[in-house]
Amino acid sequence: MHDLTGVPLVDVHCHPFTRKERLSADEFINVTAFGGGSPQYLEEAGAAVDESALAFLRAAKTDTVYFRHMIHRLAAYFGVPPDVEAVAAARNAAIARDGYEAYCKAMFTAGDIATLIVDFGYPLPSIPVETFRREAGVEIVPIFRIEPLIVDLLKADLTWGEFRRRYDDTIADALTHGGYRGLKSIIAYRTGLDISPLSRTPDQGLDAHDAIRRGADSGAGGGAIKRLRDHLFCRALELCIDHDVPMQVHTGMGDWQVRLTACQPSLLLDLLRFPAYRACRVLLVHTGYPYHAEAGYMANVLPNIWCDLSEGLPFAGGAAKRIIAEVLEMAPVSRVCYGSDAYGTPEPFYAAAVQGKHAIAAALGGLVDDGMLSQGEAQTAARLIAGENARVLYRL
Ligand SMILES: [Zn+2]
Repeated sequence: MHDLTGVPLVDVHCHPFTRKERLSADEFINVTAFGGGSPQYLEEAGAAVDESALAFLRAAKTDTVYFRHMIHRLAAYFGVPPDVEAVAAARNAAIARDGYEAYCKAMFTAGDIATLIVDFGYPLPSIPVETFRREAGVEIVPIFRIEPLIVDLLKADLTWGEFRRRYDDTIADALTHGGYRGLKSIIAYRTGLDISPLSRTPDQGLDAHDAIRRGADSGAGGGAIKRLRDHLFCRALELCIDHDVPMQVHTGMGDWQVRLTACQPSLLLDLLRFPAYRACRVLLVHTGYPYHAEAGYMANVLPNIWCDLSEGLPFAGGAAKRIIAEVLEMAPVSRVCYGSDAYGTPEPFYAAAVQGKHAIAAALGGLVDDGMLSQGEAQTAARLIAGENARVLYRL
């Protein structure tokens, strides 16, 4: 199986970034290295952060296979030694020489990145879509995240009728006039994916909202905030069906704040096979990694489920080929999409693209070697996973 050079990528899950024309090596590490361990994380808890603690944190960020691989790919791109100081200096010099927009465009072009499907819910405050579109220089497909809206509406202390009306109207406006092409939920970071299909009843929304306003939330186990979020998640699925757009749901690992015991894709099975939601196209973000076999299975047995390969690719480093192969144990090749979850600056998007194309080719090549797919079938599958499936999913 030859590599996928020149095959256009659609990145089905990533985040916008602000203009950063000069970064020190430390700043570059903080922007691009996946992982927590910030000084703030320790300081908030009252832990002392001295020089040796800072060095310890820095090492944890740069010692991952993901980060080392990114530096190797970027060093090759710039033609400099593979260390973070040289890479940071090379990117600063290239931006100073070519201009920021031309730098971004060249990097996306080198990665064959044609389209970014972008979750504008991170970072906050939201980066304006038009600013990012102008600076990135590739096709941008914006996605609207529901959780910041829920926070805003709770702060406004509305009656339930007004809350519900503003929730629906804001989402409808984003999808009809705002240029957004789908919704996203990170309920796996809040109250978890164990959402009862019956949460859709208006009574549950009213009752939970009333309990929160009266300060009568019983907290853990059936707490009002969970019942409200579950209700609003169900409502978002209905709105996706009404507007004929997909819903992205964070599943599996994420940053350190995720509810790791309530993020498995299988927790969504009862909900997604419920008759009211069967028509909703759902993208399981991160394909539930490390529970990606569950996501692959769901994409097999349910007709409207897609798997996003981000997170396992690129943050799980050397596991990308294995993860793709394991998702493809059950998922149809027409239901798996390349994604990077990249953020911060253009460089991780490029490194993820290079790694992604290599891993997709390697996983499919393994199936050819084993006599499971023909060479032609593998090449078709590669194009589907690289971008064509995402185009079908988002009607691009
Ligand atoms: Zn993300």
